[in-house]
Amino acid sequence: GLPGLPTRPLAVRRASRRIQVGSVAVGGDAPVSVQSMTTTRTSDIGATLQQIAELTASGCQIVRVACPTQDDADALATIARKSQIPVIADIHFQPKYVFAAIDAGCAAVRVNPGNIKQFDDKVKEIAKAALETRTPIRIGVNAGSLDARLLRKYGKATPEALVESALWEASLFEEHGFGDIKISVKHNDPVVMVNAYRQLAAQCDYPLHLGVTEAGPAFQGTIKSAVAFGALLSEGIGDTIRVSLSAPPVEEVKVGLQILEALNLKQRRLEIVSCPSCGRAQVDVYKLADQVAAGLDGLEVPLRVAVMGCVVNGPGEAREADLGVASGNGKGQIFVKGEVIKTVPESKIVETLIEEAMKIAADMEGE
Ligand code: SF4
Repeated sequence: GLPGLPTRPLAVRRASRRIQVGSVAVGGDAPVSVQSMTTTRTSDIGATLQQIAELTASGCQIVRVACPTQDDADALATIARKSQIPVIADIHFQPKYVFAAIDAGCAAVRVNPGNIKQFDDKVKEIAKAALETRTPIRIGVNAGSLDARLLRKYGKATPEALVESALWEASLFEEHGFGDIKISVKHNDPVVMVNAYRQLAAQCDYPLHLGVTEAGPAFQGTIKSAVAFGALLSEGIGDTIRVSLSAPPVEEVKVGLQILEALNLKQRRLEIVSCPSCGRAQVDVYKLADQVAAGLDGLEVPLRVAVMGCVVNGPGEAREADLGVASGNGKGQIFVKGEVIKTVPESKIVETLIEEAMKIAADMEGE
């Protein structure tokens, strides 16, 4: 087998029904997939498709596009046809855009029950159209736009309120024989969010889309999402994830993929095992690790590269990795598969590691 292949994940996956979002299976035993959302005007078809192409290249598996106007709705057919990954139309206020998105061939439609006022009497028609075209519906409840009735009942967006909103909406669809549903109950507080998803997971078998909404700028949002998704995914809860950052969507995808890789829910790709450095370090570990990471960026094979500052833990970690360096005395011992293959001067460490990594990667790809 390949080195770096996932070890056992932390938990058994929650049993959920499987739905199909375009070419991507969601729920059941399908792998957890990573989503993001475009930031372009959807009506600007060229810019939107360009951003979708960038997201696809970064590993995004499903993309959502906002649809606030008729111009956006008109653009959906072309975008859905030309996108390399399934496109979900995000509809907040207007049921007529739900029909437009289904007609346009979108892989799924996200509706927000809190924001669609004349929804109830439209559910039957939506269910019929979605059933005929086998278009799944994501019921996306958001703490910031909770149904006024539930807000009055609970006083604020509690986990119970978020779950009740979602399941009530789902029940309207169920009445019309529609069950290709995915649910999200997002909140900006990871603790509330985790509790909401736990309750939701216990009360239905729909696949769940995880998100900490309005998680913040990149650093804070990354931590909040990683903590919340980590808690839920380690309990087997969650079928798709979206990291929301006030940063370009490609960054969201990178974080999402890293979270899944860290949990062994996705094959790890390049992994740099570098030490934090300490008073024993005989080399600038930060710089070395950054240079190696930059030099190997984009490598798709699961390669574990150890970058160690001294000979205390250095050789040990370097031996556990596919490749590594343990530095000391202005030199670097280069290890491949546990064997020292050469010792090079400090100035040659980065290029030697990259060279050896490329050789190993080529071997792996050839297998
Ligand atoms: Fe310190 Fe050496 Fe450990 Fe790095 S490998 S943290 S330099 S003891």
